Order: sequence, then C-alpha cells, then structure tokens
Amino acid sequence: MAQAKKSSFVIVYHRQPYEEVIENGRVIYKENKSPNGIVPALKGFLGSAKDAVWIAWKQVPANGKGFERTVHIKDSYGEYDVVRLPLKAEQVKAFYHVTSKEALWPILHSFPGKFNYGPVDWENFREVNRLFAEAACEQASDDAFIWVHDYNLWLVPHYVRRIKPNARIAMFHHTPFPAADTFNVLPWREEILGSLLDCDIVGFHIPRYAENFASTACSVLGAVRAETRAVKGPFCPTGTVLSEPTVTTALNYNGRRVEIDAWPIGTNPEVIDKLLSTFEAGQRVAEIKSEIGDRRLLVSVGRVDYVKGTKEMLEAFDRLLARRPELKEKVKLFCVCVAPADGMSAYRAAQREVERLVGSINGKYGNLRWSPIMLSTRGVPFEELVCYYRAADVCWITPLRDGLNLVAKEFIAAQNGDPGALILSEFAGSAVELAESIRVNPYSERSMDAAIDAALDMGATERSDQLQKMRERVSTWNVDHWAQHVRERFEALPASQNENARSAA
Ligand code: UDP
Repeated sequence: MAQAKKSSFVIVYHRQPYEEVIENGRVIYKENKSPNGIVPALKGFLGSAKDAVWIAWKQVPANGKGFERTVHIKDSYGEYDVVRLPLKAEQVKAFYHVTSKEALWPILHSFPGKFNYGPVDWENFREVNRLFAEAACEQASDDAFIWVHDYNLWLVPHYVRRIKPNARIAMFHHTPFPAADTFNVLPWREEILGSLLDCDIVGFHIPRYAENFASTACSVLGAVRAETRAVKGPFCPTGTVLSEPTVTTALNYNGRRVEIDAWPIGTNPEVIDKLLSTFEAGQRVAEIKSEIGDRRLLVSVGRVDYVKGTKEMLEAFDRLLARRPELKEKVKLFCVCVAPADGMSAYRAAQREVERLVGSINGKYGNLRWSPIMLSTRGVPFEELVCYYRAADVCWITPLRDGLNLVAKEFIAAQNGDPGALILSEFAGSAVELAESIRVNPYSERSMDAAIDAALDMGATERSDQLQKMRERVSTWNVDHWAQHVRERFEALPASQNENARSAA
C-alpha cells in the first residue's frame, strides 16, 4: 500500500546536498555555492527520477531536539527529499573520524604506515552502515536503483541486498583502490569485498583502481573474471604511472555477475567559462594580476591532508628559492590548504607542518615588500578560485596519492590566451588523462625540482600546445559526459539478476 510512495532512485552519500545555515533564527537549506565538484555532479542525477531521494547523515544532540529527519528540497536541480540519518557525536567520531579516516583512508591511499588499528570500533562501523542501508531501504521500492558512494559506506550494499534482494545496487569510489598487498592489511577485507560483490555494478575513476579491485576480489574471495576489455576513452593506456592497457569489466561471484566500471568524474568547463566571462571576474583577475605585479603567480589548491603532498611541494619551493636567488621577489605562491571544519585529529599534524613550513619560508626569504607564500587554510569560494586559476602562471598539484584531482582539470578549463603551466603528480588519477602536463614524482626531490624549473622556464608556444590538447580532453570528457556514461551503464544492467541467482542456486 505504501509502495506507491517509495522511490525508484536513491543516492546514499554521507554529505547533505546543500549548505544548512541559520538566517533570522530559521534553518535555511541553501544550494551549494560551488557549481563544480562531486555534490553538483550527483545532484544532476536527481532530476532524472521524479521520486529521487538522497540519504545523508546529520549529527544531532543526544536528546535529538528539533531534529527533522526528512527535508524536501526544491532547487535548480529539481525537487527531491533528503533523509538525514541522525548520528550522535560519539557515533560520528568512531565511524568517520577514526575508522574511516585513521584506518581506511591510509590504506586506500597506500599509506599502510599510517594505518591505525587500535582505536577502531568495527561494530560501530557496521552499525552505522546498517543504519544507512535501512534508511535507504525504507525509502526505496523493491526494485529501486540504490547508488552508494564512497568507502565509508562500504558495508551498505551487504545490508541492502539482504533487505531488498531485487534492488539494483551501485557503488562508486571517489578515492583510489589500492593493490591487494596494501588492501589486505585491512583485517576486515573479506567482509568489505563481500559487500562490494553484493553490488550489481562497482565504479571507480580509472582502470587501475578497477583492476586492483578485481584482482583483490579474485585472490581473496575467489571471484572469477567474466570479461576484460582494452582501455579506451580519456585514458592513456600505457606510459603513465597509473596506466592500464586492459581492464576487467565484470566478475562472476556466487552465481551473480558484478559489473565493474572505470570512468573519471569531469569538471564543468561551461560553468567555469561562464563564471570567468562576467565583468566582475574580469575585474578580479585584473586586480590579482596588478597585486602580483611583475611576479610569477604559482597556485596550489587542496585540502589539509598528508596524501595531498603539500609538505613536499613547500619543501620544493624552499629549495627553489635557495637554488635560484634570481627569483627573489619574482615569484609568489598562493597556497590554499583547506583545514577540515571539524578538526579531525588524522590531519592535525599535516596542518601544523604546512603552517610551520610556510612560516619558515616566509621568514627565511621574505622582506617588507614581499612574502613568498600567501597561505589560506580556509576554503576559497569557487568563483574567486577560478580567477586565481586564470591569473596563475603555474598550477602546482603534487599529491602523493589522489583518487582523481578535480583542481587540475578546473585549472585547465580556466586557461585562455597565454595559458599557465600545469605540474601534476603522476600519482593523481587525473594524470592518466592529462598526460601533457608536467608530470612529477612527488617522492623524488630531483623530479620535484626539475618540474618547477620546467614550469617556470617553459616558452609560451609549448605551454599553449600542451594546454590545447588537455583543454580538448577536459572539455570532451566533462561532467556531463561522465553522467551520460554512468546512466548508460546503469540502464544496461538487467532488472534483477538476484532472482536468476536464486533460481540457479
Ligand atoms: N575547492 C574550492 N575552494 C577551495 C579549495 C577547493 O572550491 O578553497 C574545490 C575545488 O575547486 C574542487 C574541489 O574543491 O572542485 C576539490 O576537489 P579535488 O578532486 O581536487 O580534491 P578532493 O578534496 O576531492 O580530494
């Protein structure tokens, strides 16, 4: 009876798809300011189903006072419900700050030395994942499409499959997926892989991560490769650190077929063009250029996180200023390193190190007229960021490991006329698409030094040629293309293969 009200499309993502602010004592759900990034990319799917629902979490006080579980949102993406799973502060700390960020995150990013097992409460992680699954199933029709996002919800497919055996379940990873040797450090490896194999389709940004998942699932749980294909699309199939010439596109496990997809989220060059073509943006770019004067502007944008390689980039900047004294007063680095709002302890040391290095470099080389680095640990609004991209001579992106890196693509999309140079870590997923960038190995001081020298010394023609090729790729394989690709893969899935599996069993 209540079935008519159930949703045919449910997105399960830990973040809410808006900014919740209080204005004149009232709670307002404002559309996210940034038109770019993951949340807008996912919201694009909400319009495709009339009855779409988004499941997120919301931290609530112990007494749950004033909490509204479901809010109805009407914004430029359409109308949809957001169901918030109420979590207490202790649950959030254990599930997100500790298990997700101190145990799972370092493994996903191939930092087993930072894996912190001691404080993990796995029962709590299971419980929160189960609650997410139940919240999704309460909203979903029996054959709904349930799309789960990211590693902190890894166990959701397991619970959903048991409540709604005929649902179609998809999971998308926004992070890397490491090789088996590293993944298997996780004591919960079988449970996690088993849950992923309860999906109908498991998605990743690039073929390397898909291949890592496939080989781990085969070796740990005995899944069998059902299909492999030559890598096509935006990727360089050979020759970059993260290249793969072939990729597994389906596994068989327990009588079911699990599709695997590798397709990178793109940026939205149209939105960036539009933002930069306004009168205000033109003025702001001119203002930034006039503040910089005859100096070269370098920009580096990311979050406070040891995986982002900000420390390694700052150390390279220190060496640059020592090695090339003629650059004194001739360069300026705008370093955006956004600190987490909730002061997660996993990132505290990384933030201290960035602040210490910036202080040390500014103290060592700066004078009354010039400080080499301007640091922001607060987020810069997207419309301001694109002005910095446009004004910059160099964009310096050096993660030790990064699922994709949208900033690199946004920088490319923001260039025109006399473009800047992009230095991009070989260990960022987007480097498989942006092979014409100045690729750098952030683990090697020599490579880091050579890359920044190359970026500063590169002639306009070479910069322009490289940019042109990357711009074409960023424009073609944009966020709409990603959405179209994902839709096609979803539509090609059989309605319910679990009935087949049961009858075959
Ligand atoms: N961003 C922003 N303001 C900032 C820093 C970052 O709007 O001060 C945006 C940036 O434009 C990009 C996103 O945040 O769209 C970061 O995505 P990316 O894939 O580069 O890194 P992630 O944080 O997801 O690891």
